[in-house]
Amino acid sequence: MLFVAIFSSLVSACDSGNKESMAKPPASAVVETRDGPSKDELAAATQVVILGTGTPIPDANRAGASIAVIHKGQAYVFDIGAGAVRNATRARYRYDIPSLYPSQICCVFVTHMHGDHTMDYSELVYTLWWRRPGQLQAFGPPGMREMTSGMTAMMAPDVRTRTSSAQPVPNPEGYKVSVSEIEDGFVFEKGDLRIEAFEVNHGDIRPAFGYRITTGDKSIVISGDTAYSDRLLEMARGVDILIHEVISDSGLAKNSPGFQAYHRKSHTPASELGRLASEARPGLLVLYHGLYYGVPENIIVDEVRSTYDGPVVLANDLDIF
Ligand SMILES: [Zn+2]
Ligand SMILES: [Zn+2]
Repeated sequence: MLFVAIFSSLVSACDSGNKESMAKPPASAVVETRDGPSKDELAAATQVVILGTGTPIPDANRAGASIAVIHKGQAYVFDIGAGAVRNATRARYRYDIPSLYPSQICCVFVTHMHGDHTMDYSELVYTLWWRRPGQLQAFGPPGMREMTSGMTAMMAPDVRTRTSSAQPVPNPEGYKVSVSEIEDGFVFEKGDLRIEAFEVNHGDIRPAFGYRITTGDKSIVISGDTAYSDRLLEMARGVDILIHEVISDSGLAKNSPGFQAYHRKSHTPASELGRLASEARPGLLVLYHGLYYGVPENIIVDEVRSTYDGPVVLANDLDIF
């Protein structure tokens, strides 16, 4: 009941338009439930929240790859690398975005099956699953079902102990995921939101997808992991925001010949990304999933600028666009 009371006071704070108090984290952890998006959420412009900008290399400042697109009170999350769910909770309060509360996230879209893009999948599915209002929808390449069934086996003791104890379980099926293994093409449409998957060029990892998201007010392309891709260039022409992975040219040169060859087939050197962006001309180029190999991070921006004179930023976790 205490939780309900606290939540009611939060809701009334929201209803009265007290945005500033809502944007502050609550004094203690709060269970959030909601019947659906508020009028304010439905009327808000599309937002892009960067939940994770990292790679497989452990990084104290960057969670694994994850980008949230917030549209009409729903959070569409693209990749779910380690730490992304924690950052979703932080973003929920920093920016007052109720749909980023983990058990409120509606949908996740995976680019490819590498773990630096998926390792928080179980964190997302099993965080407060018994209070999830509906069913999480997950989209991704073949491998999504296998990963989901493995996760279900891993977490079966949690489900069993909660459902067979005195704990109330409002949604006994809240941990079950609706999984769609996708192909190239439109994978999700709702109102003015359209999400299209397109194959990119991540070496011998096939398929690996990028996503193009269009809404009534914004167009966004997310590269996932890819070497230079003509297909991505076509999808990204004139887009408002191009969020693209990158590997530092000078960092790449520090690798062994074997890793250099692998990276050239699988990732996009900064100078090549600059050439792609010069052709695509996005409103804003956002760099994420940067592989640095010990060179200072900002050098990567200079490397992109050596072949591109448009707007570019190096994203940090919790940036918002
Ligand atoms: Zn990756
Ligand atoms: Zn990868």
